[in-house]
Amino acid sequence: MAHIADVLIVGAGIVGAACARRLSERGLSVVLLEREAMPAAGSTGRSAAGVRVQFSEALNVRLSAASIEEYRAMPQAAYRPIGYLFYVPHGQWAAHREAAIMQQRLGLPVQVLEPAEATRIVPAKTTGFAGATFCGADGCVDPHGITLAWLAQARAARAAKVRSERHAAPRPVAVRHGVRGSPFSGRPTGSAARAG
Ligand SMILES: Cc1cc2nc3c(=O)[nH]c(=O)nc-3n(C[C@H](O)[C@H](O)[C@H](O)COP(=O)(O)OP(=O)(O)OC[C@H]3O[C@@H](n4cnc5c(N)ncnc54)[C@H](O)[C@@H]3O)c2cc1C
Repeated sequence: MAHIADVLIVGAGIVGAACARRLSERGLSVVLLEREAMPAAGSTGRSAAGVRVQFSEALNVRLSAASIEEYRAMPQAAYRPIGYLFYVPHGQWAAHREAAIMQQRLGLPVQVLEPAEATRIVPAKTTGFAGATFCGADGCVDPHGITLAWLAQARAARAAKVRSERHAAPRPVAVRHGVRGSPFSGRPTGSAARAG
């Protein structure tokens, strides 16, 4: 079986594009297979496009903060820091407030507010809410723009050796770092198409 790439990635969503970019930057050749006619045709293109650091796990908070920093410096991401405001009911307030304090310790601009203070940001009836949190660095991005930019960077890093092939079913491939042989079956039935 011919060796066609160091790494095979199935799916040209934002995750596949991120993997293709990082692996290509490290000098690996990548083949990226996508069954649709264009990248970002799955969840990526249908998402609400929100990005936020307000999570309860520190690892998620750090990952999100690093992502937002990258988006901030990337015109194609069209990052808009419009902020996320959470009104939190009494039963969830203790855990939510604890998470907000952890986010603050990580250096993030998360505010802990009384419900009445939060109404100055987004008016709401505050009955039943124990508190609110707001982070002005949270916001939204352009998932299509990010995916296409990372695919372009992947191709540039490997002198256009990243390929996207339209197909109906994954085909057998050989991989250098992994199990030699194919976990897949079936033959390609679509036409080849370059993503991005
Ligand atoms: C309604 C909605 C709202 C969301 N809102 C947000 C949000 O606000 N913020 C946020 O961070 N996340 C949000 N998400 C989640 C986010 O969209 C996903 O986590 C993210 O897009 C996943 O990216 P992905 O690349 O893993 O998957 P996808 O974007 O789904 O990409 C997978 C790709 O694989 C392709 N594929 C699948 N099977 C095969 C195959 N056998 N052969 C070839 N290609 C194949 C698909 O066609 C697709 O292009 C939302 C999701 C939805 C559905």
